[in-house]
Amino acid sequence: MEFLKSLGIEGINPGTSTGCRHFESKESISSFTPSDGKKIATVGTTTREQYEHVVAEAEKAFKVWREMPAPQRGDIVRQIGEKLREYKEPLGKLVTYEMGKIYQEGLGEVQEMIDICDFAVGQSRMLYGKTMHSERPQHRMYEQWHPLGIVGIISAFNFPVAVWSWNAMIAAVCGNVMIWKGSEKTPLCGVAVQKIVAKVLKENNLPEGIFNLVTGDREVGEWMTEDHRIPLISATGSTRMGREVGKTVASRLGKTILELGGNNAIIISENADIEMAIRATVFGAVGTCGQRCTSTRRLIIHESVYDQVKERLMNIYENITIGDPLDEDTLVGPMIDEGAVENMQKALEAIKEQGGEVIYGGEVLDEDGFYVRPALAEVENDYDIVQQETFAPILYLIKYETQEEAMVMHNGVKQGLSSSMFTLNMREAEKFLSAAGSDCGIANINIGTSGAEIGGAFGGEKETGGGRESGSDAWKAYMRRQTNTINWGDSLPLAQGIDFDV
Ligand code: NAD
Repeated sequence: MEFLKSLGIEGINPGTSTGCRHFESKESISSFTPSDGKKIATVGTTTREQYEHVVAEAEKAFKVWREMPAPQRGDIVRQIGEKLREYKEPLGKLVTYEMGKIYQEGLGEVQEMIDICDFAVGQSRMLYGKTMHSERPQHRMYEQWHPLGIVGIISAFNFPVAVWSWNAMIAAVCGNVMIWKGSEKTPLCGVAVQKIVAKVLKENNLPEGIFNLVTGDREVGEWMTEDHRIPLISATGSTRMGREVGKTVASRLGKTILELGGNNAIIISENADIEMAIRATVFGAVGTCGQRCTSTRRLIIHESVYDQVKERLMNIYENITIGDPLDEDTLVGPMIDEGAVENMQKALEAIKEQGGEVIYGGEVLDEDGFYVRPALAEVENDYDIVQQETFAPILYLIKYETQEEAMVMHNGVKQGLSSSMFTLNMREAEKFLSAAGSDCGIANINIGTSGAEIGGAFGGEKETGGGRESGSDAWKAYMRRQTNTINWGDSLPLAQGIDFDV
């Protein structure tokens, strides 16, 4: 495959790597393409000994990197962005080939990496602290932000490269060094990114160990979460994983950014532009084969437009092209693996058992790849299965009468990532965005639940974990705040006017 060759990862056993060096490893994980289930390559997993080496290299590199002025670190990130532009096509293809999302989405994922690089370059000159007026004469008070040290990044299979960049590019301009463990389901994506970054490090004579990669399953992730040398763990994945990671890191009083599961809904009001709402719903529900944290899972529809929406959706679903994700005509590629297909089938059974009706799709379409037909189901919001995040293209249709009722249903799940309302009525829209409205980290009007831009802070509330990544002031989570008071006078007045004469 030409794109594997141009990424320099064809037929190799890349092992573990710090910045530029690769170690051979005895243990390995296999990388499969979900498009036909074939094995692409094996990737060596990190041993405990190698892990210790990586941490030591990272600690060494931190001493160099933290001394480099932030705008110069920004320039390195700019160069990473340039390299990613150069490799956009092959890397986008690899994302598609190893993860299964369609090529347009693979390219979009790499574009997201480029965008966050550009954002981080600007951020490198804007790591602002405040200046305060001291209550004491001839004193100056201000705050500044310092890097934390090693940032551990644990990422999920569905965004095998972008999630790393949201974290790593911002954390890097802040002066941190990174250890990344990607998903064991997409190990080659991590190796390809590491190779691209390694070129930039080498060209700039920078130490190995600023950007590090470890490979393996949750065991390697556990080494990281237990490791007091890693002050911050940014973990993206299931709520189950987040609970474990959160507990372990909290027990050593470390910091976490948790980006976990969603159960995202769109409310379609009687005042909606229905065509626009339908297009956004379909993109949100079937895009990435329903395997985005922001996928639209629940559609809460006003009773007056319910039948119209249902009919239109059935029509569109009948015409969706499902197939090879590298084929430009495909809109829905495969699911990640057999386990994912099984979970979807179990969820469809549960819908029926709990009183719902699967009104369209759900079938498994082949035996080699993991292709399924996206499903539509009529349900009630309080069904047990509707309350869970099933990481599959199942869209639940739920009917409502009043906006109050819609809001109660909308917020009546444990997750709180992304949300949206389609309406042309200003009062309804503003209410949805108000404190009494959506309880999610992301709330949109007349835009679907998925496809966030990097400029805003990304993340969610409740069981989604509360973390924020990417834009706005998310950078602060990767730094420690220091408050400084300087006395430039010739006396020593105490705060709060305390008199302490010695
Ligand atoms: P997962 O939880 O199975 O695995 C995610 C990562 O965590 C993997 O790298 C895995 O090896 C690691 N891991 C698992 N258990 C661990 C433990 N106990 N300690 C340390 N590391 C551990 O998730 P997945 O199936 O790869 O991804 C799908 C999930 O990710 C969905 O729930 C989705 O909503 C969520 N997700 C959330 C966001 C977000 O930003 N909120 C983004 C993408 C995906």
